[in-house]
Amino acid sequence: MANTEETPMNRQEPKLSPHVLIFPVPIQGHINSMLRLAELLCLSDIDVTFLTSDFSYNRIIKHGKVDSRFARYPGFRFETITDGLSDDHPRSGDRLMDVVSSLKNVTGPLFKEMMVAKNLLASENRRPVTCIIADGIFSFAIDFATEKRISIVYFRTTGACSFWAYFRMQELIEADEIPVKGKGMDLLVQSLPGTEGFLRRRDLPGFCRVDDINDPKLQGIKFETRQTARAHAAILNTFEDLEGPILSHIRTQIPNLYSIGPLHSHVKFRLETKTKEFSESLGSLWEEDRSCLTWLDSQPPKSVIYVSFGSIAIMTRDQLLEFWFGLVNSGQRFLWVMRPDSIAGNDGESQIPTELEEATKARGYTVDWAPQEEVLNHPAIGGFVTHSGWNSTIESIVAGVPMICWPYFADQMTNSRFVSEVWEIGLDMKDTCDRVVIEKMVREVMDVKKEEFLERADQLAKLARKSVSEGGSSCCNFERFVEYIRSLIL
Ligand code: UDP
Repeated sequence: MANTEETPMNRQEPKLSPHVLIFPVPIQGHINSMLRLAELLCLSDIDVTFLTSDFSYNRIIKHGKVDSRFARYPGFRFETITDGLSDDHPRSGDRLMDVVSSLKNVTGPLFKEMMVAKNLLASENRRPVTCIIADGIFSFAIDFATEKRISIVYFRTTGACSFWAYFRMQELIEADEIPVKGKGMDLLVQSLPGTEGFLRRRDLPGFCRVDDINDPKLQGIKFETRQTARAHAAILNTFEDLEGPILSHIRTQIPNLYSIGPLHSHVKFRLETKTKEFSESLGSLWEEDRSCLTWLDSQPPKSVIYVSFGSIAIMTRDQLLEFWFGLVNSGQRFLWVMRPDSIAGNDGESQIPTELEEATKARGYTVDWAPQEEVLNHPAIGGFVTHSGWNSTIESIVAGVPMICWPYFADQMTNSRFVSEVWEIGLDMKDTCDRVVIEKMVREVMDVKKEEFLERADQLAKLARKSVSEGGSSCCNFERFVEYIRSLIL
C-alpha cells in the first residue's frame, strides 16, 4: 500500500507562476495597451509586475481605476521608477522627445541597477522575473535581458503598417525615399513591400520628414526598431484580418510575431466570458468627464461626431479655429475633447468668436478628457475626427465608427492612409487644416456617404471582435504566447 503520509521529502511546494515584467513608455497610449496585456496575462494566472514612472503611477492611481479593476488579481503589482523629468514638464507636443531621451539616458541605467538590486523582483511568493515585455523602443532592456539570459519580448504599441515602415527605414534611405520633403511628398513609395500603389512618401512616419538623414530622431527610431530582431519575440496590438499582408512581410524578418489585438476588446471578451463585471475605462492619466455620456444619451442615433486628438498632439489657435468653424459650418452635432494643454501658447484670454460659442451651446459639447472607449461605443456617435493615434484608430475600428484623420506626427501619418485607402473607413486630411475641407469631410462622413462608411466600418468591427473570440486569430496567438511564457519555467 502506498504511503500517503506527507513528509518533508514528498510534500509538494505550491508551484510559483511565471513572472512577467511589463515596461511601457509611461505615456497614455502605451500605458493603455500594455495595461490590457497585463490584465490578459493575469487572467491566465501569470504574475505581472507593471513598471511605470512615478509621475504616471500617481496619476493612474488617482484617475485610472486600476485599484478596483486589478484587485481581483493577486499576481499583479506595480513597481515605479523615475522618468528623469520634473513633475511640471509638459510631456506633450514637441517636448515628448524629452521623455524619450530621458528614458534612455536616465531611466535605462537605473532600470538595470534596480533589477539587480531587487534580485529580478523576486519576493517570498514570486519567482524572479522570467520574461521582460518591454516597450519596443527600450533597447537597454534587450541588452539587460541578454546579459542576464532571460527572455525578452518587444511590445510595439503601433500598428503593423507603421512598424514595417520603421523597420525598413534603412532600405528607404538607401533608395532615396527618405528624407521626405518638398515636391517628392506625393510620389509613391517603392521600397516598402506590401504598400505598393497607395502609400505616398507623405504617408511615411513623421520622423521621415527631416532635412538630413543623420537627424537624431530618425536615426534613434530606426535603430530601436531594428533591435526588435534581437528580441525573442514581438507583440503587436493588431489582428490578422486587418493587417495580414503586412504582418506576413514582418514575419520574414521577425518570425516570432504575435498579433493579439485589439487588446481592449480582447480583455473585454475574456472578462465577459469569466465574469459579468466589466468597465471599459482603465489606466487614464486624466480625470474623465463622464457628463458627456449623459449629453450623448439625449442625442439621436449616429448623429454626433466625436473630436479628439489624443494625449500628446497640440494645435495652434489658428488650427483650433479652423476645426471649430469647420465643425460648426457642417451643421452636425459634435463632442470635442479639448485637453487644457492642447492649444499652443494658450493664455486663456483669447476671445472665441460668439458665433462659435453659440453654435457649440446649441449642438456641441466640450470636455477636458472623455471616457473614450465608452464614447466611441455610444449609439449617438456616428464619426470620429482623430489624430490617428494607434489606440484611437483601433478603438474606433472595434466600435465600427468611421474616421476623419488629422495625423499629428510619427506613425499617425501611416495609420491615416490605411484608414482611407486600405480599409476605406474614413477620410484623410493630412497636411491641411482648412475649415472648408473639414466641413466637407464631416458632411461626407456624417451625411452624404454615411451609409457606405458605416457599412464598411461595421464589417471591420465584426472581424475585430471575431479575432479575439474563441478560435479567432488573436485569441489563438495569445494562447500560443502564454504557452511560450509557461515554457520558460519548465
Ligand atoms: N483617450 C481617452 N480620453 C480622451 C482622449 C484619449 O481615454 O479624452 C485615450 C484613448 O482611448 C486612447 C489613448 O487615450 O486609448 C490615446 O492613445 P492614442 O494612441 O490614440 O494617441 P496618443 O495619445 O498616444 O497620441
